[in-house]
Amino acid sequence: MVKIVIDAGHGGHDPGAVGFGMREKDLTLTIALKVQDILIRDYIGAIVKMTRTSDVYLPLAERAKIANVWGADLLLSIHINATPSGYGYEDFIYTGTVNATSIATQNEINAEVIKATNWHNRGKKRKNLQVLRDSKMAAILTESGFIDNPNDAVLLKNDKFLNQVARGHANGIAKAFNLKAKVEPPKEDEELKFSSPALKSETETSLASKAHRQIIVAAAVKAGAHVSWAEKLANGTLTDADVLGLAVKYTVAVNK
Ligand SMILES: [Zn+2]
Repeated sequence: MVKIVIDAGHGGHDPGAVGFGMREKDLTLTIALKVQDILIRDYIGAIVKMTRTSDVYLPLAERAKIANVWGADLLLSIHINATPSGYGYEDFIYTGTVNATSIATQNEINAEVIKATNWHNRGKKRKNLQVLRDSKMAAILTESGFIDNPNDAVLLKNDKFLNQVARGHANGIAKAFNLKAKVEPPKEDEELKFSSPALKSETETSLASKAHRQIIVAAAVKAGAHVSWAEKLANGTLTDADVLGLAVKYTVAVNK
């Protein structure tokens, strides 16, 4: 198992940066919890420890210590930037000697966050930050947008956008640590039983139609199925059993 510590920056009496009615400590916690959710829900092979799950203060030294004591493989510290003239996303690893995993993780997270958000990329940077300096394992600190920049503030107020920010972080971690997507295709040889001949013929018609397959996959992804299903559909590797599995599991759930 890959041990990931997710650190939501600031908290308690330390709000971090503030702007447009938002506090950094709230945004970092929201994003951190979303990253945890995605890693656990969509991937196998990772266990996650949070430095905080509520609005409490933790000294910087304590955050790295949690990761060191646990023997984590990665410390991800999530922050939001400030300075009204700045905008977009950037991330930092330690200035001094870093292991290859830190560099690989920065490469992957940076690429995936930009891909997921379409944000301006301020780049992969290095900085002598305490949380990075004190960590014995691979460590990265991300700065997702500027809380006091009017354009970034609009994005940071949008929960769907925060989902994309979190998705980018989680996908980057998954790539850096080779975590596999959790949703396994249904077994090919599973025998399908239909309650009526009409349903059987209707299902076969649906499977034969490209448009129907697209509708089923789109509905399933919207209802929570992993986006990789849409990729499988696009590259032609989605089987009939896959489509049926998605239809049963997700579109039934949607219609409830
Ligand atoms: Zn901060």
